[in-house]
Amino acid sequence: MSESMSYIFFDLEWNQGYPHSEADKLDEIIQIGAYRLDSWDDPGSPFSAYVRPSIHKKLHHRVRKMLPLDQNELNRADSFKKVIRDFFRWCGKDAQFFTWGSCDARVLDMNLCWYGMEEYLDVEIYDLQRAYDLLIAHTDQQAALKDAVEKLGLEDELEYHDAGNDAYYTAMIGAEMVRRLKRLPSEEELRQGEEAFRQEKRRQAVEAAKEALAELLPTLEPVSRRNCGVFQREEDCLKSRAARVCRCPECDNLLCTGNWYQVEEHYLARSRCAEHGRFYSCLTMEDSAEGLYKASVALYCDETFPRETFQLCKAGGKPIIVAKTPKKRVRFHKRGK
Ligand SMILES: [Zn+2]
Repeated sequence: MSESMSYIFFDLEWNQGYPHSEADKLDEIIQIGAYRLDSWDDPGSPFSAYVRPSIHKKLHHRVRKMLPLDQNELNRADSFKKVIRDFFRWCGKDAQFFTWGSCDARVLDMNLCWYGMEEYLDVEIYDLQRAYDLLIAHTDQQAALKDAVEKLGLEDELEYHDAGNDAYYTAMIGAEMVRRLKRLPSEEELRQGEEAFRQEKRRQAVEAAKEALAELLPTLEPVSRRNCGVFQREEDCLKSRAARVCRCPECDNLLCTGNWYQVEEHYLARSRCAEHGRFYSCLTMEDSAEGLYKASVALYCDETFPRETFQLCKAGGKPIIVAKTPKKRVRFHKRGK
């Protein structure tokens, strides 16, 4: 590592438009906060600058609530281009960048593109939250900055949701993680670790699903049982109307299942009656002598079939996608209400 290497932790605050046009979709940066460490035990130094809004001139009501300045003060701040140049100059030539989560990098890139400052687009930004989630919290949930500060036992005297303070906290988390882990994992190590974590979770879920089904199915009385006929291929059976559509035992309305999840010889799917709630279908196939598949479906109601068991099948079973993804419906709002 060279002498001039610096670690830059940054955090952005942005304003949003009210969605009417293309430009309104851009999250416009209004504050850049950063904290620089020149080594992992450096006390560090801060950077914070507001940016004069030029795209969304009015502060969104949610942003206005969080911001310690008023609109007039913000309007006297420097332009985005000036602040960005000052910021990168402050960072030094040999800087490594860190954020908490992936949002800030995305918003920075969008703003750089908007202002035609592509020369800054290729800086690599390390998402410290990913490393924290995987190696400290051992979860695939994204930890909030505040929770990480608490869990690592770091001092938290500053207000959250100020770009400068959040950048400072991110730096303290980074330094603490390096103390505990010796070094931060590379992108590739993170990818591998996350994949191994997902696989392990899936494996545990499928084991738990097998156990739960083995205990449940022999004794649980279905609401109904029906034959779906004979099919040449398993796939044809699972996609068939006979397998997927049934009637609500209460009101006789037609119900259609979502995707199937295969756990050993069982295929499970869920359907829903708008009035009578959820029903669970458990399909089993038998090979007949002619190489055909004979299927039957047992239907269970929500009161007796544990929701968690279905969740386990969904998390660990092999998904068989049969449901069409619903198209987003276009809604027409009456204006001027
Ligand atoms: Zn019903």
